[in-house]
Amino acid sequence: MALGLPSRFPERVPTVRELLARGERSFSFEFFPPKTDEGERQLWRAIRELEALRPAFVSVTYGAGGSTRDRTVDIVERLAHETTLTPVAHFTAVDHSIRELRHLIGRFADAGVRNILAVRGDPRGADPLAEWVKHPEGVLYAEDLVRLIRQAGDFCVGVAAFPYKHPRSSTVESDTEFFVRKCRAGADYAITQMFFKADDYLRLRDRVAARGCGTPIIPGIMPVTQMSTIGRSAQLSGAPFPPELAEQFEAVADDPVAVRRLGIEHAVALCRALLDEGAPGIHFITFNRSSATREVLQALTPDWAPAMR
Ligand code: FAD
Repeated sequence: MALGLPSRFPERVPTVRELLARGERSFSFEFFPPKTDEGERQLWRAIRELEALRPAFVSVTYGAGGSTRDRTVDIVERLAHETTLTPVAHFTAVDHSIRELRHLIGRFADAGVRNILAVRGDPRGADPLAEWVKHPEGVLYAEDLVRLIRQAGDFCVGVAAFPYKHPRSSTVESDTEFFVRKCRAGADYAITQMFFKADDYLRLRDRVAARGCGTPIIPGIMPVTQMSTIGRSAQLSGAPFPPELAEQFEAVADDPVAVRRLGIEHAVALCRALLDEGAPGIHFITFNRSSATREVLQALTPDWAPAMR
């Protein structure tokens, strides 16, 4: 059942599906909705600086509630109207009825946003593993969101993938099984949670391929630029930071410049390994700053120039 949303968008906005189908390796950037005016200025500075690199797409995460959610929609609308970028709107099921979800999908369609990343979201509050309570008139899993968006119109839908399995999943096998179900519900591609070793991505890709699923999986990469990121790694990635890599960072921990340099070098090596192994692209988690991402891309560019749109 379609919602009466446009099946063709007014201007021909490319979908991530189409960009990936060209067979070129894409690179893309992720932003989050800031809470303050200064944060908003920082975000738009980063967007303008990264726009010059002509990424395949940029994505904006969906906040845990209230005003940051409206900001996500506002930023995505502004990206669609005021920049040359292709925006991907993240979208979660937390605290939303199906009616509200449909309304949001309609707002994206009205803004000409064809690309949506459907993630379930974590419960509000400090503990992301607290009980996940479905809205009485909402949906339970990302898989249901994928169906809802698909039914609503001519959208391209992405989903989340977890190299170390999702922290809620009891086993890697069940995690893979539900991931494949989500893809079969209509996902066009997936983006991973951040990770730090190419093998972790390759094992995920092999597990998914072994179940006969060929959905492209884009690695999500965050260059480490400060020691505090390593401490937060388990919370950010769902797994402890690799000990052998942590040792390298510990050795230069007193020198912020050396920490940053090591982080960039590591990210460049990781991206190279992933691209050599046939990853369809790289999605950079920017934390609304442009410089680390630009440095990694500049180092990769000699290998990667043909991928630029
Ligand atoms: P699901 O795919 O629904 O999976 C959740 C858990 O349920 C998993 O353990 C899964 O194995 C299990 N499961 C799935 N289907 C079934 C089923 N049918 N039966 C039984 N079990 C099942 N969060 C935000 O709040 N905003 C964002 O913008 C955001 N963006 C993200 C972007 C990326 C690339 C990633 C990797 C994560 C993002 N997240 C975001 C975090 C994400 O919302 C959480 O990690 C969330 O807990 C899981 O979302 P999911 O879409 O993978 O959920």
